[in-house]
Amino acid sequence: MTIPRREATPHDVEIEILYCGVCHSDLHTARNEWHFTAYPCVPGHEIVGRIKRVGDHVIKFKVGDVVGVGCMVDSCRECEYCKEGLEQFCVEGNIQTYNSPDKHLGSQTFGGYSEKIVVDESFVLRIPGNLDLAATAPLLCAGITTYSPLRHWNVGPGKKVGIVGIGGLGHMGIKIAKAMGAHVVAFTTSESKFAEAMRLGADEVVLSKDPAQMEAQRGKLHFILDAVSADHDVNAFLSLLRVDGSLALVGAPEQPLPVAAFSLILGRKSFSGSLIGGIAETQEMLDFCGKHGITADVEMIGISQINEAYERLLKGDVKYRFVIDMSSLKNE
Ligand code: NAP
Ligand code: ZN
Ligand code: ZN
Repeated sequence: MTIPRREATPHDVEIEILYCGVCHSDLHTARNEWHFTAYPCVPGHEIVGRIKRVGDHVIKFKVGDVVGVGCMVDSCRECEYCKEGLEQFCVEGNIQTYNSPDKHLGSQTFGGYSEKIVVDESFVLRIPGNLDLAATAPLLCAGITTYSPLRHWNVGPGKKVGIVGIGGLGHMGIKIAKAMGAHVVAFTTSESKFAEAMRLGADEVVLSKDPAQMEAQRGKLHFILDAVSADHDVNAFLSLLRVDGSLALVGAPEQPLPVAAFSLILGRKSFSGSLIGGIAETQEMLDFCGKHGITADVEMIGISQINEAYERLLKGDVKYRFVIDMSSLKNE
């Protein structure tokens, strides 16, 4: 279908989209698993592209710059959270890259599975020059969604950190936690990812469906980042935390996850969540990844393979992020 894009206003940049990552949130939204999809829906919030046009008042960017757009394209910019750089928690609700009300054109926002996008420069990110562009696209969601909680819960040297669910988010979580200096334990349900988790940077790997391997980690972890997209037993993971440890959910399964009171009481543990990250922190994450040479492990697809990619995502069968080569949209 043909979607409308606004003419660039003085603060906007128009971006030709080169690559767009395929996040599991795209799948949840396309299939209305969170029950708030406005159709027609164009997903995609891991965007890397080249600037084709800049508005008269744009100061950060020029035509030809390679830039990124993540999950947000606007917010109120005036509430206490926006002022603190926590636009994702804007009291008015942040404007998501897709499936949010579009104050310019009146319908909903449309995401990165498209040829171009027009975005206010305040929500556009600089891409470090040394990184492969296609493999950088997933940093715009999977990268920041794991970087932000790892920073917030002070992951670093001397900390033992669990990453649960080795998909798009989880594999970035392993790489980033390792680069922060932590001891990283990867938890997977997929035997095929067991050896590979070590290659990604994990110090230990646990097959989470093996009770003996889980028992060996009991009470050992300072922090756990849970990136599982489907129903699973969080109590089994809470039991692996040390006293005062925290488990943060970034995965957003369709159904509620039951938590037993004693999973938290015995050990003063915290069960919490985290949503992407602010714009300044997203830039910080990109610069951190540039410095450490971190990108995603990607499988390139053309736009016509998207349904097959969604089916494979549901089976945990991607190593570790699908990225759409957006030139396929013009060619297919
Ligand atoms: P993904 O690539 O599909 O990875 C999810 C992983 O979870 C799978 O690779 C698999 O890892 C594990 N898993 C899947 N089904 C499972 C099951 N039934 N039981 C146990 N483990 C299972 O998805 P993603 O793109 O990384 O996204 C993960 C979740 O985070 C999604 O729900 C997504 O919507 C959400 N998300 C949240 C935010 C946020 O801001 N909070 C941002 C982006 C995405 P193993 O094979 O290793 O077990
Ligand atoms: Zn995402
Ligand atoms: Zn706000």
